Amino acid sequence: MKKFKTESKKLLDLMINSIYTNKEIFLRELISNASDAVDKLYFKSLTDSDVKVGKDELAIHVGFDHDARTVTVSDSGIGMTKDELEKNLGTIAHSGSLEFKTDNAEAQGDDVDIIGQFGVGFYSAFMVGKEVRVTSRAYGSDEAWCWVSDGVEGYTIEPAERAAHGTDVVVVLKDNADEENYDTFLSEWGLKNLIKKYSNYVRYPIQMECEKT
Ligand code: ADP
Ligand code: MG
Repeated sequence: MKKFKTESKKLLDLMINSIYTNKEIFLRELISNASDAVDKLYFKSLTDSDVKVGKDELAIHVGFDHDARTVTVSDSGIGMTKDELEKNLGTIAHSGSLEFKTDNAEAQGDDVDIIGQFGVGFYSAFMVGKEVRVTSRAYGSDEAWCWVSDGVEGYTIEPAERAAHGTDVVVVLKDNADEENYDTFLSEWGLKNLIKKYSNYVRYPIQMECEKT
């Protein structure tokens, strides 16, 4: 097992234990990452004539498995190499993590869900997940890798199988409390509501796959 960097551990700890009560936003974060990954592949296809992207690849899939208590977000985007999995998920991304998005905060006044405006990123999956598995195959590579973590000390990366480029993020929900929340995450209507609430702006179709994550 490889250990998380100190900053990552602090953020994970914060995610899991304190400020964040609005757990459902993990879905928004995973969908937004999937959308970014599809964007990256799409833009590559515009600038490189060797890269061809079919229309059906420009979509995001959300699924759940009630018995296994998993929620999955998949994309056929740019994917990640083994190194990228380590770099992007093993440390805090340079990026939007904990960056305050003020875009519409002022316009909406006091009622705005301030917490909901944070771009909290991938690690938010650990607010609801006791384990997160990320299987990814980078565009142009024939290798797939699976990154697995419980969000506490570190992660492992093992060879995996994936038929084509893209990424599957599987969140294994915690066993404990908050069952109401978890019923939402493990149902079609619940997930659809969350997608409507948080991911309406996503430019790619979001398709639901039920009970077969
Ligand atoms: P941000 O999206 O703000 O960069 P995140 O914590 O959400 O930060 O994600 C960290 C990084 O992990 C991303 O910048 C991206 O490089 C990588 N990543 C996460 N999810 C995916 C995905 N589905 N496909 C490809 N790369 C991803
Ligand atoms: Mg993100």
